[in-house]
Amino acid sequence: RRKFIVGTNFKMNGSRAFLQDLVENLNRADLDSNVGNEEVHPIFISPPSLYIEHVRQNLRKDIAVGGQNCFWKSSGAFTGEISAEMLKDVGADYVILGHTERRTLFKESDTDIGLKVVHALQTGLKVIACIGETLSERESNTTLQVLFRQLQAIIDHVQNLDLNQEEKWKDLVIAYEPVWAIGTGRVAAPEQAQEVHAAIRRRVGEICGLEVAETVRIIYGGSVNLGNALQLARERDVDGLFVGGASLRPEFVQIYMGAG
Ligand code: 13P
Repeated sequence: RRKFIVGTNFKMNGSRAFLQDLVENLNRADLDSNVGNEEVHPIFISPPSLYIEHVRQNLRKDIAVGGQNCFWKSSGAFTGEISAEMLKDVGADYVILGHTERRTLFKESDTDIGLKVVHALQTGLKVIACIGETLSERESNTTLQVLFRQLQAIIDHVQNLDLNQEEKWKDLVIAYEPVWAIGTGRVAAPEQAQEVHAAIRRRVGEICGLEVAETVRIIYGGSVNLGNALQLARERDVDGLFVGGASLRPEFVQIYMGAG
């Protein structure tokens, strides 16, 4: 089976004191030996970028740390941005790109996200590339059309990398995050998630070949909590979970433990 990955996104939440408590809780948690093992069941947390270095220095080493965004240039006159290189420099291993909040609130285009994904991969970060449809897109039966458009922009950029297929894809995880499920408490039913994940996998196979499709991990995000994590995790094409709100509450330790 593909390595099951659990990631969290703290979004713009927390403070030094809050994160210190959270880190200490995690450090004390009695995690199964496979949990956090990068080769078996990787997990990562994504604090706001200002706190990444502090969290990395204080957090147990079997939990990885990620950023929530980065730009597609290494450095330069890009006021307010941070680069993939900077994330690496302060100890991050992962970065979330193309989250729906970036797409809608900060007007990131499919192309912006494609450029960010390849730059981050080239820098050596593991990338969680997010795609998702809104409620009105789902209700008008355009879910797959929207997802495939977002996916295509990512794939087009990744396929242009001067690497072999395995190298291009080994650090890239796709996150299916239906916009209507994010922060709403309205989680996708396991079979709904499975159906979309299988369709994404088929699509990856059509464009990139069966081997990439079989190995790429597709994780689900949107109102995941302790009550629904296990059921989602049992679905064949759900290779991990991406947790927002619940990652700020003590239950996330059990989500890490249970879902793997
Ligand atoms: P919630 O778990 O709060 O719905 O957020 C999911 C998310 O956006 C993860 O990136």
